[in-house]
Amino acid sequence: MQRLIDLLFTPRCIGCSQIGQHLCQNCERHLVPISSNRFAGYESISTAGDYGGWLRDALIGYKSGNKQISNGLALVIAGTLLATRLPQPLTLVHIPTSREKIAERGFDSLQEILKSIELDPVRYPIKLGQLQVRAGVKDQVGLSAQERKRNLLGAFQSVSQISGNVCVIDDVITTGATLNAARTALKLAGAQRIFGVAICGSKQWR
Ligand SMILES: [Zn+2]
Repeated sequence: MQRLIDLLFTPRCIGCSQIGQHLCQNCERHLVPISSNRFAGYESISTAGDYGGWLRDALIGYKSGNKQISNGLALVIAGTLLATRLPQPLTLVHIPTSREKIAERGFDSLQEILKSIELDPVRYPIKLGQLQVRAGVKDQVGLSAQERKRNLLGAFQSVSQISGNVCVIDDVITTGATLNAARTALKLAGAQRIFGVAICGSKQWR
């Protein structure tokens, strides 16, 4: 039994499955952040890579319920934050998961990732649950780009005022509609400069 428990909780690299770490140095080294400053309302947006390969596989595994992957994904986000050298202090907030998805999956995917991030809390304070999904917003899967835009207008609200530099953490950037909705809510709540960091992105957004 103990062997089984050890096996279940032994870290495995989310990139190559090697035992010992949640993200091995070799896989981390191959991540090349992609940044753009052409996204309206954001100072810059960066991803750890394009949507594909093991980043995509890890996200799919995570979203289908393998919660342990959050540790490796937290290292991907932390690595991207450090590589892009954004101004600090930088408050990290996450795109919220809809209530239906939380019920289905059992957890808020980005909130779990943020909980696992180990960065200096003075330079990178984390506000879990800062953004909330407003009632009546549908899940984005299966909607066209136009429908996504409409669905997400005013989709989020900030639970309290926020100031200074804020970085929105997202999983996959597709059309950018989610990030637009987050920016609207954060600006209304008082954020000064807004940045974005995601695990990966489609080629469409930049
Ligand atoms: Zn690896």
